[in-house]
Amino acid sequence: MSMTSAEIREAFLSYFAERGHTRVSSGSLIPGNDPTLLFTNAGMVPFKDVFLGDEKRDYNRATSSQRCLRAGGKHNDLENVGYTARHHTFFEMLGNFSFGSYFKREAIEFAWDFLTKRLELEPGKLWVTVFTEDDEAYDIWAKEIGVPEDRISRIGEKDNFWSMGDTGPCGPCSEIFYDHGEDVWGGPPGTPEEDGDRYIEIWNLVFMQYNRQADGTMLSLPKPSVDTGMGLERIAAVLQNVHSNYEIDLFQALIKDAAAIIGTDDLDNKSLRVIADHIRSCSFLIVDGVQPSNEGRGYVLRRIIRRAVRHGSMLGAPTPFFSKLVGSLVAQMGSAYPELAAKQQVIEDALRREEEQFARTLERGLAILSDAIADLDGKVLPGDLAFKLYDTYGFPLDLTADIAREKELTVDEEGFNKAMNEQRQRAQQASNFGVDYNAKIKAQSVSDFTGYDQLTGDSQVVELFRD
Ligand code: ATP
Ligand code: MG
Ligand code: MG
Ligand code: MG
Repeated sequence: MSMTSAEIREAFLSYFAERGHTRVSSGSLIPGNDPTLLFTNAGMVPFKDVFLGDEKRDYNRATSSQRCLRAGGKHNDLENVGYTARHHTFFEMLGNFSFGSYFKREAIEFAWDFLTKRLELEPGKLWVTVFTEDDEAYDIWAKEIGVPEDRISRIGEKDNFWSMGDTGPCGPCSEIFYDHGEDVWGGPPGTPEEDGDRYIEIWNLVFMQYNRQADGTMLSLPKPSVDTGMGLERIAAVLQNVHSNYEIDLFQALIKDAAAIIGTDDLDNKSLRVIADHIRSCSFLIVDGVQPSNEGRGYVLRRIIRRAVRHGSMLGAPTPFFSKLVGSLVAQMGSAYPELAAKQQVIEDALRREEEQFARTLERGLAILSDAIADLDGKVLPGDLAFKLYDTYGFPLDLTADIAREKELTVDEEGFNKAMNEQRQRAQQASNFGVDYNAKIKAQSVSDFTGYDQLTGDSQVVELFRD
């Protein structure tokens, strides 16, 4: 069965609505009630207090398609983008949730029924995992659903035991994988080759069973609950018979438009995939109120934009190009997310400003980096070089690392941090002279970078940071 992303989203939500789940619309990428969490990274985040029992709602089953970001904090897939077929910074997570209403058996039955009956996936292509000690889930899969035992594996805590944090609700989980077939490299879950693109995890069912106490004891929850998450882009790839998320309808449209704006016809280029990924995360971060800055969430946004600009530059893109892609994104996602369409202008303005600013120093920074790479002995880029690129040319560390990785090099992060600390100390000393250089330095140097030519007026400030 071939379905568009929009049809799949609707099929999922209506399937669960028909089974007593209240449809809840996607919350913001910025968690409203949790300062400890950088971004909404899963569908359950907006329901956290309901799971904890701290908040009551007038339903005990819910379904949503939640926008998620994994580009910082506990879950960070930024480094995977462009390298795997399945990871994005921004993606949509389809979920069904039970707040004490049903538990393992129904969760597994719903998932299996939806995949094999509603979406008509071939059962023989599905593989499942359960937590090592979870015999109950194992037996449901093996005896009630009838999945052959050679396609069920038991996996340890790292991948198959989920917890919200150090304390609170937690429990074993069960992941469902899809086999993309022999012509794709990779091995089934639990084997050393599992990180290939052949067996792709599509859905994770979390069985919230315990409440972990500060001393580590696990108490049974009075009302065991369920939290599930399925990546919309991954299931779309399956249904559209393609082996990479970047080949689905939505990404193909973004990639084609990006290629036209940039002026390339190399549609399989990795940089186009990165750009198509990054326009989504950057645009939705701005929709949710984040602006590029030097700290916290704003710095994550800045890092992603700069990465996109660098990938554009590799393709010979004009400046600006990234902000011009917003219209294409709105065409793809504006009807599912009216707030995106409503903020088109705000997004374009913010992206254009940032890319124009960075374009001024990008080429010079790249030239210095490629000279250094040509002269390099060994496989590690020195930390002080990475720091110079950061400080003088506005290269976030992960951008330098991304470039290094393409040349099979790594960056000396410790050296980078050392150089950063030394600079901070110099700034501290400068402030002791009785002149408030610090305010200026903070505003203009380390991260809010505009280039030395912009550091006008006070040559001492420039001197302090030149070496
Ligand atoms: P993986 O092992 O492939 O990195 P995960 O176990 O980290 O996935 P979960 O935290 O279980 O993922 O999230 C639930 C679902 O969300 C996954 O089964 C997958 O379909 C989807 N998903 C997770 N991370 C991403 C991502 N970076 N991009 C797109 N979809 C994702
Ligand atoms: Mg992951
Ligand atoms: Mg996983
Ligand atoms: Mg998982």
